[in-house]
Amino acid sequence: MSLFLYNTLSRKKEEFIAINPPFVGLYVCGPTVYSDVHLGNCRTFISFDLLYRYLLQKNYKVRYVRNITDAGHLEGDRDEGDDKFTKKAKLEQLEPMEIVQRYTLGFHEVMQLFNNLPPNIEPTATGHIVEQIEMVKVILKNNLAYEVNGTVYFDVEKYAKENNYGALTNRQLEDLISNSRELDGQDEKRGRLDFALWIKAKPEHLMKWNSPWGEGFPGWHIECSAMSSKYLGTTFDIHGGGMDLAATHHTNEIAQSNAYCGHQPANYWIHTNMLTVNGQRMGKSLGNAFLPHELFNGSHALLEKGYSPMTVRFFMLQTHYRSTLDFSNDALKAAEKGFDRFMNALETLEKIKVSTTSTVDAEMYKQNCFAAMDDDLNTPIALAHLFDAVRQINSVYAGTETIDNSNLTELKKLFHTFAFDIFGLKKENEKSTESLEENLVSILLELRKEAKENKNYAASDAIRDKLKNIGIEIKDSKEATTWEKI
Ligand code: AMP
Ligand code: ZN
Repeated sequence: MSLFLYNTLSRKKEEFIAINPPFVGLYVCGPTVYSDVHLGNCRTFISFDLLYRYLLQKNYKVRYVRNITDAGHLEGDRDEGDDKFTKKAKLEQLEPMEIVQRYTLGFHEVMQLFNNLPPNIEPTATGHIVEQIEMVKVILKNNLAYEVNGTVYFDVEKYAKENNYGALTNRQLEDLISNSRELDGQDEKRGRLDFALWIKAKPEHLMKWNSPWGEGFPGWHIECSAMSSKYLGTTFDIHGGGMDLAATHHTNEIAQSNAYCGHQPANYWIHTNMLTVNGQRMGKSLGNAFLPHELFNGSHALLEKGYSPMTVRFFMLQTHYRSTLDFSNDALKAAEKGFDRFMNALETLEKIKVSTTSTVDAEMYKQNCFAAMDDDLNTPIALAHLFDAVRQINSVYAGTETIDNSNLTELKKLFHTFAFDIFGLKKENEKSTESLEENLVSILLELRKEAKENKNYAASDAIRDKLKNIGIEIKDSKEATTWEKI
């Protein structure tokens, strides 16, 4: 069975044909580590984790490269002003690399909580300054860039004479020009669409390196061109990122590669759709971003309660990666129920008894589920088939349907493969220790209430004091007794 993937470049679902099977090169634009990743970022990385896992499932040997942007990404994604790290470092009176380290560690922790597999290579922009400078030198030599006063710009209009600059998002050069900001007298750029490959550092700038053009730092787009070609070659299989990156970041990556080596870098360009809140894209700068931890512990104002990482992962899998996904309490509550039902089915499968007859056709489920995944990773359809199977599993358990040994073996294998290998779900121990703690404290509060009712104040006070000794404070009010960790 062939895998079909939607290629942004051709605007079609295309059969995936690897350049050099069984090897696959996959490059995904990683986070800009100047603040905590929000849930929208997580959606994109979970979507690519799904793609990575599915390629592994199909026995490809994948080299998955996902970078860390730790330099060069300027405020508002522009070519002038402070970079995001310098700004944050000044604000917090830290070294920029302290900012980078803090948020890289935080990012890894969140990726682990969501059970995302780590990439095979996680290169950083600051670790590849030499490669970026070399690439800029070649683009200059090929006359598709120019230097002004220590800054090197890519000449988009010159490039567009022989290349289709707006190809990735199917836009005409004239429209792009007329929709962009007019140059003013101060501008060093020749054309409105020109973008910086290398930027001259102002004296107060904290992150800067020597280059043939003086002290400076790389533009944001060149890092991905330099790192993808270093680790995957100048032509590799799949390049991915969130949809918001296609129009500028990836369009410019394609232009840079063409200018550098005469062809664009990747055969398949995959873009994931956005996580939205009340219909608006979740974004750091938009002020509507949720941090994953606010979701797990339910502390965000828009949330009624907390949801576990696997519930959130399941919530994301219920929607196709190319559709927008709107965040809501109701949808999360439904996902929580769905996730429990799905994982319970795995346990029920261990308990059901086999018969000589079978009303369950495991092969049909297998074919349908894999067909859905082969159709551009259609997880909602695959889940719908799996839930049909859950219904039958529960009927077999209730004794109203039957299953024979071979169908049971195959169905168990299918559920395990999908739950753990493809969907990347796991049983949640954290959830059970948390609820264990809650259950234990409520048993103690119940005993204390009884003691008080029996006027056994020595016992009720002892429970309160002993809980306090282990960091749990009880608060009595007229309405209720509550507790919190201190
Ligand atoms: P950044 O850290 O801003 O460079 O973004 C890291 C990744 O998250 C990029 O691939 C973005 O396209 C993606 N991203 C940003 N906002 C969202 C969102 N609301 N939903 C899904 N992906 C997003
Ligand atoms: Zn990138």
